[in-house]
Amino acid sequence: MENEVLDKLLDAATEAAEHSYSPYSGFPVGAAVLTADGSIYSGTNVENASYGATMCAERVAIFKAVSEGADKILALAVYTSAAEFAFPCGMCLQVLSEFAEDIPVIVAGDSGMKTFSLSELLPHRFGRE
Ligand SMILES: [Zn+2]
Repeated sequence: MENEVLDKLLDAATEAAEHSYSPYSGFPVGAAVLTADGSIYSGTNVENASYGATMCAERVAIFKAVSEGADKILALAVYTSAAEFAFPCGMCLQVLSEFAEDIPVIVAGDSGMKTFSLSELLPHRFGRE
């Protein structure tokens, strides 16, 4: 991925975290996905008084992309301001794997970023094949 695109992806994830609705966890998360046509879709975590109705930032970003017509995701970035990097949960990785090959998954915070592959984080994906 070009540095310019990576910067845009990280900026989108960081900005999305500012819109987080997380009064219960106090843990704002921002995510952004890059799609095959070069578009970037962002999302943030949206919590609910009925905890199970909460949605992760990553799935918000993925669902936004898919509902706008994207069917191929080329990269995912996740941002939190926490001291330690936060990784996508198992459910988000599974949803991501529906629309992505072995793509880079970037975890970022105020002190930097680290890149993993989807297969590192989800080595045995459940799929149609
Ligand atoms: Zn999740």
